[in-house]
Amino acid sequence: MHAEVIAVGTEMLLGEITDTNSQVISEGLADLGINVYYHSLVGDNEARMTEVVKLAASRSDLVVISGGLGPTADDLTKQVVARYLKRDLVVDKAAMHKITAFFKKRKREMTPNNKIQAMYVQGALSLPNEVGLAVGNYYQDPNGADFLLLPGPPHEMQSMFEKTAKPLLAKQYQGQQVLNSRLLRFFGIGESNLVTKLADLIDEQANPTIAPYAKENEVTLRLTAAGHSDAEDARLLDELEEKITDRVGEYLYGYGENNSLPAVVVNKLRQRKLTLSASESLTGGSFQAAVTAIPGASEIFPGGFVTYAAEQKEKLLGIPADLIEKNGVVSRKTAIAMAENTRDLLQTDFTVSFTGAAGPDPLEGKPAGTVWIGLAGKNMVTQAKLYHFQYDRQRVRNSAVMTGFGMLNKALDK
Ligand code: ATP
Ligand code: MG
Repeated sequence: MHAEVIAVGTEMLLGEITDTNSQVISEGLADLGINVYYHSLVGDNEARMTEVVKLAASRSDLVVISGGLGPTADDLTKQVVARYLKRDLVVDKAAMHKITAFFKKRKREMTPNNKIQAMYVQGALSLPNEVGLAVGNYYQDPNGADFLLLPGPPHEMQSMFEKTAKPLLAKQYQGQQVLNSRLLRFFGIGESNLVTKLADLIDEQANPTIAPYAKENEVTLRLTAAGHSDAEDARLLDELEEKITDRVGEYLYGYGENNSLPAVVVNKLRQRKLTLSASESLTGGSFQAAVTAIPGASEIFPGGFVTYAAEQKEKLLGIPADLIEKNGVVSRKTAIAMAENTRDLLQTDFTVSFTGAAGPDPLEGKPAGTVWIGLAGKNMVTQAKLYHFQYDRQRVRNSAVMTGFGMLNKALDK
């Protein structure tokens, strides 16, 4: 059982808008355990749409199309699919009634074209549109591919897909399988390194499946199990997770879609009733912005400093001018002094400090991307680590911020 997703619209071929519908549809199909083998994108052109529909129907069990259900001359999806299936289009009376009432209420004239919005392929289920006028179609063909036609406007597509189409697809294709997935989040290891360490597990994956995904500054693994019950899935996922953490557990920082390293760190501090401050140079407050973006940050974060110029490191943090002169701004000693002085000024359990060259130019002869990150605490020996981050100014600053969270997370796990 596998599906193909088609987006219809010339504006996407021209690059004016991005095809977001296919992404949402694919995600929904994955939730249902339906494999998607192809995505296609075609303009509002009858001949080329017909080609794409034919090809899709020849190689897939289910063809999901979004767009082109509207009333204008370039909306052709239903007509093309009906012709391909050698079926007529018929009127959904309830939908027609809704369209007539819509125009009457707005005292606007209804054109004959609007009727097409209430039509569906004979033999298909007409799917109601709760936030628009054009009905969707779900056509099941015992001898060929099934078709699901959805409207183009994303809010209409999503509403119809979630409320009506997904339940229908679940009933039709899901069978007895129960799907559960678990998202593992890693920091401090690159995708290729992670994948290499798990190569044999990834090669022999079947149930659960393993899907790696690299984002900026982190890598995730989605494990998906298909068993007969939630309990069986949980056991399968636990077994695989254990094999994974045996090898790369030191980089695993958390779970789940709506999660992040800053959120994990802030929540650990909250649970343990510990406080955090920061003093930032090259990151200009980004670390503190990331802390305060997490709900509940006020419990753990009293404040901190942005000391961009050397002079302010002296004035605000009380770092001796000769320490900076002797060692430079981008140095272990400065990072340590920034962290310790801030900790003492604000009396927090932990303080993270950042000093370095964001780029593009070198600073004090140190190449762009050279960053010292300090970590001081009430009950620990102060650390300072040297990093060489890459790429542009923004990436260097982002990497520094996330690495600061990574250092703190490690310290909290000790
Ligand atoms: P309408 O009744 O509004 O004409 P329709 O079903 O005919 O709807 P289209 O005309 O193809 O759909 O698209 C309407 C609008 O919806 C597009 O202008 C575009 O903004 C948006 N849209 C269509 N397809 C997609 C897609 N795949 N991803 C994101 N947006 C889309
Ligand atoms: Mg349209």
